[in-house]
Amino acid sequence: MIKRVFSCTVIAAAAFTQIAEAAPKIVVSIKPVHSIVSALTKNVVTPELLMKGIQSPHSATLKPGQAETLQNADIVVWVGPGLEQFLIQPITTVATKARVIELSSLLEGEEKGHDHDSEHGHKDEHKDDHGDDHGDGHEDHGNIHIWLDPQSVLELVTPVTQQLIEADPDNAAVYEENSARLKKELITLDSTLSTKLEGIKNKPFLTYHDAYSPFVEHYGLSNTASIAVDDHRKPSAAHLKKLQSITLKQNITCLFTEPQFNTAWLKSVWPESALKYAELDPLGSSIDAGPDQYGQLMHNLADSLSNCLTSK
Ligand SMILES: [Zn+2]
Repeated sequence: MIKRVFSCTVIAAAAFTQIAEAAPKIVVSIKPVHSIVSALTKNVVTPELLMKGIQSPHSATLKPGQAETLQNADIVVWVGPGLEQFLIQPITTVATKARVIELSSLLEGEEKGHDHDSEHGHKDEHKDDHGDDHGDGHEDHGNIHIWLDPQSVLELVTPVTQQLIEADPDNAAVYEENSARLKKELITLDSTLSTKLEGIKNKPFLTYHDAYSPFVEHYGLSNTASIAVDDHRKPSAAHLKKLQSITLKQNITCLFTEPQFNTAWLKSVWPESALKYAELDPLGSSIDAGPDQYGQLMHNLADSLSNCLTSK
């Protein structure tokens, strides 16, 4: 009997070692996506984050260390060519042995095949809440900052899990379990944020770069305009003049800057006596990387918006 228990333990230990060895090397471009993938690969492997620190993916360049990381990757997860432009070439020329998971194209695929019966229970609720304001909340897939809409993230969980299972079938059961847990967490996160943002729906505000329409449209907020329309370049004088007039007409009280962009110059256009300045970080750069980073980042956005827009 004792002998039998012992041999079972040995077999289990051997199986565990095998799983650990077989786990794929996963590389993820930006922090919020790294967080989602970390949640899906929990108890299998910790993915590597490519873009560390405070940097905008729009203007990043590939460093030698990052090239090496890509070269050794079995799986690379990125948003797509509309966001991490610095990865377009290396994805094919450097990450040669990797399976590439491109989230923006998975989302487009999902859109074409629209299945209203399975994953979309929540969306129907959402539709009821906001009526005709913005249809089913899906016009916005043109905006590449797709992680800022938790409904889009929820839609990505199944296809990304499928890819992980194809690449690493030995750990299929763990991925499935993680996938089910993440879906529940995302649904809870979404409803908590809805409640948090309820009171600021009709309060217009300015943002620095055009990242937030997925978030704004999903939660029915009133973002009036972005200062840098071309993602990270300084806007024209004409555009600024137009925004100044909008600010006055609509009685805008808050302007949200971002840690990824130098925006000190804005204070010569809108002095602090005219507008309150607050910060939004669409990447959650200062939050520790890991499975909880995404939820924290989304809470931070909601808190920052709500703090500034409700303060006198
Ligand atoms: Zn952006």
